Amino acid sequence: MGERTLLMAGFSLFAAVATAAVAAGPALEKDTIPTSAGDLEVTFVGHGSLFFAFGGKVIHVDPFGKLADYTKLPKADLVLITHAHGDHLDATALAAIRKPETRILVAPVCEGKVEGATVLGNGGNVTVLGVTVEAVPAYNLVSKRPDGTPFHPKGEGNGYVVTFGRTRVYIAGDTEDVPEMKALKAIDVAFLPMNLPYTMTPEMVSDAVRGFGPRILYPYHFGESDTARLVALLTDVKGTEVRVRKMK
Ligand code: ZN
Ligand code: ZN
Repeated sequence: MGERTLLMAGFSLFAAVATAAVAAGPALEKDTIPTSAGDLEVTFVGHGSLFFAFGGKVIHVDPFGKLADYTKLPKADLVLITHAHGDHLDATALAAIRKPETRILVAPVCEGKVEGATVLGNGGNVTVLGVTVEAVPAYNLVSKRPDGTPFHPKGEGNGYVVTFGRTRVYIAGDTEDVPEMKALKAIDVAFLPMNLPYTMTPEMVSDAVRGFGPRILYPYHFGESDTARLVALLTDVKGTEVRVRKMK
C-alpha cells in the first residue's frame, strides 16, 4: 500500500467514525447498579426521561422526543408513563420505541390517551416481565396555577417504585415532597424532580431524602435549579449518595 493509499484509507476510517457519531448523537450517560439478580443499567436521556436495561429487557420511563432521537434508542419491553404533560407523555417518542408486545403502564390521567395501555391507580401494583411496579401518588401541595388548581392534582399522576431483584428504584414523576413519598420504605435508588413551580425546591428534595433515606439520589427534571445547593443541603446525610447527571 503506497503512502497516498494509506492516507486515503485513514481518512475514510475517520469519515466513517465521524458519520457514525453524528448518526447516533452524543452518547448518553449510563450508570450500572448491581442487584441480587444481575446488573441494572440506567441510561439518562434527560429531564424526566430515562431507561433501564435489566435481565435482557428494556424499560423506558416518560420517553420525550425533544431530548433524544428515540428511533435510535433501544425498543421498549415496558414503558412507564407518570402523567399526561407533554414532556412525559409524547405519542411520537412512544411510537418510536413500541413493539407489538410492548407493555405500557400509565397513570389515571392518561386513561384513553395511549392505545393498549394499562392504567395503574395511585397505590396499585402489578408484576410485569418479572419486575414489580408500584404506583405512588405524585402531586403538588404548594404550587398552584393562578386559578388555584395544583399543577399536578392528587390522583392524576403516578411515581413508580420498580423492584429489580431486591433493589427498589423510585422514579417520582412530577410531585412535591408529599407524605406518601416520605413514608416510602427501603428505597435504594430515587429519582426526585427539582424545578419550580412544577415540582420541588432543593429544600423540599432535602426534606424528602431525610424522610425516606434512599441509598442513592438522582435529582432529575431539574431545569435551571441549582444542584450544588442540593448537594450542600445533604452533606450531613451520610446514608445517601447524591449523583448529579445530565437530567436538566
Ligand atoms: Zn408535569
Ligand atoms: Zn414535567
